[in-house]
Amino acid sequence: MKAVVFDFDGVIHDTFDFHLKNVRQVFGEHIPEQDFRDIHNGSFFQNPMNALRNADWEAYRKHVHRNMSNLVMPESTRNFLLDLTKRYELFIISSGSTAIITDYLNNNRIYSAFTEILGLDGHGSKVEKFERVFRDHDLRADLCVFVTDTLGDIMEAREVGVRTIAIDTGYHDRDTLLKGSPHHIISRLEELHQVLESPDR
Ligand SMILES: [Mg+2]
Repeated sequence: MKAVVFDFDGVIHDTFDFHLKNVRQVFGEHIPEQDFRDIHNGSFFQNPMNALRNADWEAYRKHVHRNMSNLVMPESTRNFLLDLTKRYELFIISSGSTAIITDYLNNNRIYSAFTEILGLDGHGSKVEKFERVFRDHDLRADLCVFVTDTLGDIMEAREVGVRTIAIDTGYHDRDTLLKGSPHHIISRLEELHQVLESPDR
């Protein structure tokens, strides 16, 4: 294993309550919590079940930029990631804004832990982003794992042959994640060490 690729929302930072609150502010108070969870069942911007896929996300990103980049990363997450850099290259593949994630990482003094952040800007699906990581960093699918909290992400990683480790404390619960048959399910990032070092990983 050479590289650990992280999803951002729900993995690096638990942003569910933050986004639900802001999505309601920008797009309407009527949006049910479960609907906001369910739109992450497929590739976010290509999922026809996602009623918000054609919403004005640029306006949304402007609305949340400052507050989201000022979220404070838990010290335990920060220490865990710094420790992980000793053994693996770290990436972020996200459907969120690269600029906001970059500002968040800088504000939390951990930007340099990551080799590259591939957010929304200029790329389409996570499938395309994985292919770009393979090409630009001389990696192969079997040398990477993807850590994510949503069913849609598990399915996209499968398309490119990357093994997934799902974390069940983010947007989707364990039952939803199991529908994608991830290779492992964990409940704390710290459990990654054990999973990455196990022989059947
Ligand atoms: Mg996520």
